[in-house]
Amino acid sequence: MRRSKVFIPTSKDAPSDAQLVSHIFLSRAGFVSQNAAGLYNYMPLAKRVIRKIENIIHEEMNNIGAQEVELSFVTPASLWEESGRMEKFGKELLRFRDRKDNLFLLGPTHEEMMVDLVRNRITSYKQLPMNLYQIKTKFRDEARPRFGLMRGREFTMKDGYSFHASEEDLNREFDAVEASYKKILSRLGLDFRVVEADSGAIGGSASKEIMVIADSGEDTIAICSKCEYGANIEAATRSVKTELPEAPEAAFNKFQTPNVKSIEELKAFFKVDAYYTIKCVAKKVIYDESSEIVLFFLRGSDTLQDVKAMNATEALEIEDASEEELTKIGLFPGFVGPLDQDKAKHVIDESLRGATNMICGANEQDYHFVGADLSVISDVAYFCDIAQVNEGDSCTHCEGELSFSKGIEVGHIFKLGTTYSKALKAEFLDENGKAQSFIMGTYGMGVSRLVASVVEQHHDESGCIWTKATAPYMVNVMVSNIKDEEQMKMGEDLYLKLQVAGVEVMIDDRKDRFGFKMKDAELIGFPYTVIIGKELVNGNVQIFTRATKEKDDVSADNVFKSIMELI
Ligand code: ATP
Ligand code: MG
Repeated sequence: MRRSKVFIPTSKDAPSDAQLVSHIFLSRAGFVSQNAAGLYNYMPLAKRVIRKIENIIHEEMNNIGAQEVELSFVTPASLWEESGRMEKFGKELLRFRDRKDNLFLLGPTHEEMMVDLVRNRITSYKQLPMNLYQIKTKFRDEARPRFGLMRGREFTMKDGYSFHASEEDLNREFDAVEASYKKILSRLGLDFRVVEADSGAIGGSASKEIMVIADSGEDTIAICSKCEYGANIEAATRSVKTELPEAPEAAFNKFQTPNVKSIEELKAFFKVDAYYTIKCVAKKVIYDESSEIVLFFLRGSDTLQDVKAMNATEALEIEDASEEELTKIGLFPGFVGPLDQDKAKHVIDESLRGATNMICGANEQDYHFVGADLSVISDVAYFCDIAQVNEGDSCTHCEGELSFSKGIEVGHIFKLGTTYSKALKAEFLDENGKAQSFIMGTYGMGVSRLVASVVEQHHDESGCIWTKATAPYMVNVMVSNIKDEEQMKMGEDLYLKLQVAGVEVMIDDRKDRFGFKMKDAELIGFPYTVIIGKELVNGNVQIFTRATKEKDDVSADNVFKSIMELI
């Protein structure tokens, strides 16, 4: 391609709302342009990167026997009514009616559509397993579309769905998809981690996320220093503490603690470690058609993990409860303890099961209990893991310490079981001729988010640094002065030679100043630029390596060979 002819509108200015480097550089380097909040146009460079990512995905999907399909983007709402997800997805679904007044939506994910595709078409266990996938536009009317391609409203996703006759077979496929996702990410040249994810009510190892490690990531992941364990903070677990701070041993007693409300105040008042205090986090828990105040109790040294709290209560949403709401049901904010179960529903963190020597609210204005023993409520209370792990906590798989890191979720794989097949009555006949619901897995990967992720992980102050697998062009032939006939001839020859060799190459044949053209090349991020300049008279050119910004002199005769070796 000739730089003088291609459509790459680079610019000095970034969009005013751009915060992430990927958003800034992808806009400035002419990869994408924004139409409206969360809506982007892909320009030629972006299309090339996306195609590369897609090709790698297709190859790896093919390797595990997954088959490509393409389902319509416009989705009949009736399918979502069948699954009951219309409500759950709420405002993220963009709904509209056609001229016959039928309700449709733009697919944000395709579980229903895919189940509908196979139901009554796959009818026997002999046709299983089946893994079908597509790479397709999705639409989610995200509440806060931001960060460019990272969180768009319209975006490109690879979504796959597998159908099985048994759990064992689903497990096998899940592992195969995980392995192929790892290959895809490695091939793209990304540093990533596969972590355990929140799986809502399903739980267990039923869901994993593929996280690209980047400081700008929206997710926090807990990583073990010794073993492979990693988990989204929403799902991370820890082992029971063995090295404990000194316990405040005291007989069970009620103490007057005027105005001592926070954990900090309690610690200071009793001179104890927060580990031996009990914190109450009061929330308003919102269900499908009702809401209630729920009291979450944790050790004072821990914090409530909201997603765990939602799972523990099967809530649609949780909000902070106000002091008035607590007072109204007879509670004393600042003095709420877990020993009186009558006034509101309690959820108590697992680490408090059977805990002794605790200090907690006495459910009386200005009073706390000391020496509280939670085993007295072990039969009536609901204990559950609702605490967020802390850095320094111990891994549940080994003795390693957990630490936090930021990640970008680029993939999510999930064992669905029969949730959708049951709801949509999609069945096959098993070996005994009995009707069974399909056992399913679902596997997503954010293609457009991957483009942004590469830049988040690979950039410097001058612009993008594409990995070899993702670069829109591998080599940029920079003719420093196009009026110089020798330089131009050398450039054209090399350009042609590289093209014939199958290298994706650009020639910068613009009239502009050399400095300007170099800045432009750095912004776009070609892995290699061959600089053909003044030194050509002495038979020399330079190879500029974008990642290191090093310029190496090579003889003009050898440059083709050198480039071929580098790529
Ligand atoms: P997030 O928590 O980031 O909103 P999600 O859990 O909603 O993601 P999934 O429903 O699992 O995501 O979708 C599969 C993949 O699609 C995600 O792993 C992510 O890479 C990508 N993805 C999801 N939402 C968006 C978006 N708004 N813009 C770009 N990519 C997205
Ligand atoms: Mg989302």
